[in-house]
Amino acid sequence: MDFRINPENEDLLERAKIYAKEILAPRAEKIDQDGIFPRENFNDLAKEGFTSLTLPKDLGGRDLYEDTATYSMVLYELSKGCTNTAMLFHMHSSISHVITYLGTDEQKRRYGEIIRSGKIIASYASENTSSLHGVWRMETKAIRDGDVYRINGRKYFCSMAGEADYYVLWVQLEEEEDLTKSLGLLIAPSDNPGFKIDQEWNSFAMRGTMSHSMIYDDVKIPVEDLVGRGGDPIRPDVLPKFGFGYSAVYLGAGGGAFDWVVNYAQNRKLMPDNVPIASYPAIQRQIGEMKIALEGAILMLQRAGWMINAHGADKAYGAINEAKYVCAEASAFITEKAIKVAGGPGLFRHNPLQRFHREARAGLIMPPNTEKCLELTAKTVLEGSANMLGS
Ligand SMILES: Cc1cc2nc3c(=O)[nH]c(=O)nc-3n(C[C@H](O)[C@H](O)[C@H](O)COP(=O)(O)OP(=O)(O)OC[C@H]3O[C@@H](n4cnc5c(N)ncnc54)[C@H](O)[C@@H]3O)c2cc1C
Repeated sequence: MDFRINPENEDLLERAKIYAKEILAPRAEKIDQDGIFPRENFNDLAKEGFTSLTLPKDLGGRDLYEDTATYSMVLYELSKGCTNTAMLFHMHSSISHVITYLGTDEQKRRYGEIIRSGKIIASYASENTSSLHGVWRMETKAIRDGDVYRINGRKYFCSMAGEADYYVLWVQLEEEEDLTKSLGLLIAPSDNPGFKIDQEWNSFAMRGTMSHSMIYDDVKIPVEDLVGRGGDPIRPDVLPKFGFGYSAVYLGAGGGAFDWVVNYAQNRKLMPDNVPIASYPAIQRQIGEMKIALEGAILMLQRAGWMINAHGADKAYGAINEAKYVCAEASAFITEKAIKVAGGPGLFRHNPLQRFHREARAGLIMPPNTEKCLELTAKTVLEGSANMLGS
């Protein structure tokens, strides 16, 4: 296995580290406390060309989705600065990739231009009535009416609702319930009058993602804005890559907590010893545990990335689920331990550990959630493979 970063993209990783530290981290607390969209961060990332990185090179991007080692480590580093921003950045980047991967030449040209201009794209699949954990169903249907699809339905966890410039709607096309034939992606500008925010996002973690519930009230979208064909978005070469990015994003919360607490332990001195708490064996043991959990998760992440490159996302499905499980669990473990290492001050609101810990908890839930990862992994052991759609 080769986990090397493509030398052509090394600059991106270095830049991500600098942005995380100098731009994202100083704004992260306000985004979390006030529950606000990280608009300034997106403006800065767009200015730096980051919001078009996953476009193919001929559309002015860097094809970063194809370089899984760099892409995942860029997400990981950004998340150490602000997990909300990194998660939304991954959502935008992955759906941008899907549009240009599945789209027609005309869609590639049009959306390539739109994305290069700094516009942000969101993607809504989840519905309150049926879980992504079980057998996939879509109550939101798109029914063709002449030159448009008419869409009615409800979605929840719509990250960047009211903030993104375009929404990609995951819908069932017509009355065909077999989603391998009928799951479609329709793209529309977010100012379409049929989009209505139903319930405001107010969560204990990932507060800046603005993941409101939304109603589609007779939304009309021209038929030429269907991306790919029915069933394409859940093809095994498309869907699993979303989970790969979430693994990196949520591990970043653990990485951020680790860096912060190591620095803290090296500087915090208590009387009568008047030595850094990092010199106590009990603290060192916990730092050792955190470091090994972090490195183990990074390896699992890189292994999944290598599998995607070497064998395709369909063959890497098992490795992606395993990485998602290990990264989310490692992050939750590390952020909890980091608070113990810091002691009482680890709970202070002005210290970032409590925020990293809350964001890491969301990583356990973000699809595929840890239970689903275990179930899918067991199925690959017991039955030789696992069905992505739960049927
Ligand atoms: C911060 C954040 C942002 C998000 N943003 C988006 C977004 O932009 N777009 C989007 O489409 N989605 C988004 N999601 C939503 C996500 O994809 C999930 O749909 C959402 O978390 C709800 O699914 P759930 O499985 O957690 O809960 P539910 O679907 O309500 O399920 C409840 C519980 O039952 C379990 N369960 C359900 N069915 C079964 C079964 N058959 N067998 C065993 N257990 C079962 C689930 O695992 C879960 O533990 C976001 C989620 C988070 C946390």
